[in-house]
Amino acid sequence: ELLSSNFSDAGQIARAIYDVEEATSTAFDIILEHKMIKRETRASLIKFLQLLAAHHPSRRCRKGTADFLVSFDDLYPTDFWSTKQEDDKSSLRNLKFCGKDVPRGYWMFCRGSKNDTRGFSCGLWVLLHSLSVRIEDGESQFTFNAICDFVHNFFICEECRQHFYKMCSSVSSPFNTARDFALWLWSSHNKVNERLKKEEASLGTADPNFPKTIWPPKQLCGSCYLGLDQKSNKIEWNQDEVFKFLTDYYGKTLASLDKNR
Ligand code: FAD
Repeated sequence: ELLSSNFSDAGQIARAIYDVEEATSTAFDIILEHKMIKRETRASLIKFLQLLAAHHPSRRCRKGTADFLVSFDDLYPTDFWSTKQEDDKSSLRNLKFCGKDVPRGYWMFCRGSKNDTRGFSCGLWVLLHSLSVRIEDGESQFTFNAICDFVHNFFICEECRQHFYKMCSSVSSPFNTARDFALWLWSSHNKVNERLKKEEASLGTADPNFPKTIWPPKQLCGSCYLGLDQKSNKIEWNQDEVFKFLTDYYGKTLASLDKNR
């Protein structure tokens, strides 16, 4: 079942545990390689690491990010930027954020049909959604801040960080529940999908096997749909069902292959 090529099968998401590991490790390799940890971004990285150490769906990444957190002050003391830095931080090069096998150099659930599509950015979305369904209510505003600041400071795609930052800035009141935050992230992702659908059509950059759509499609969650608003021509969602679906998909199913590792 897991090897079936039918991507409407919810079981496919179980393979994404490999991709959230790949995305996590890739993200930190990029951050270290590009020396993106600065005096002004240090705090936001610590916040994101705290979130990952507690709630990453992969145990190996929880351990790897927790180990990095433990050493963080030694590796990047607050006076790091005012002292002469060693050129060769060889201790950093050997850091493994999700165990010794990662990065593996390939994608499973997020594999595109061309080399330059999907992959890292797909893995990052899946990671963010999986975090959103694993937190508790009391962590929802912290998680929102940690994710917004992480994307703003460390996502290598300039257009993406600008767009995402705008969506973050338009939130006017703090999140009180994990449900509200998970639904905000879902709806923000759909806004990106909507914009890219048009953009990809005009630029011809779409992955032919993975066209952008409003998500989840009816085949994945029929009960998520209430109907179509005649006036605005927008989908009316059953948000309780959407939240239930997100929790199942990115919570239980995604982590199902993590148990025995
Ligand atoms: P992705 O959009 O990456 O989605 C990955 C998987 O998540 C999908 O296969 C699907 O299973 C699931 N999914 C889809 N929609 C939702 C949803 N609404 N809620 C929950 N799960 C969903 N690219 C740009 O060109 N411009 C941008 O401004 C931009 N902003 C980005 C901002 C962020 C924070 C991130 C992480 C990525 C951004 N990207 C942007 C990249 C872009 O969104 C896609 O990741 C990329 O085009 C690969 O698309 P994909 O087909 O693999 O699906």
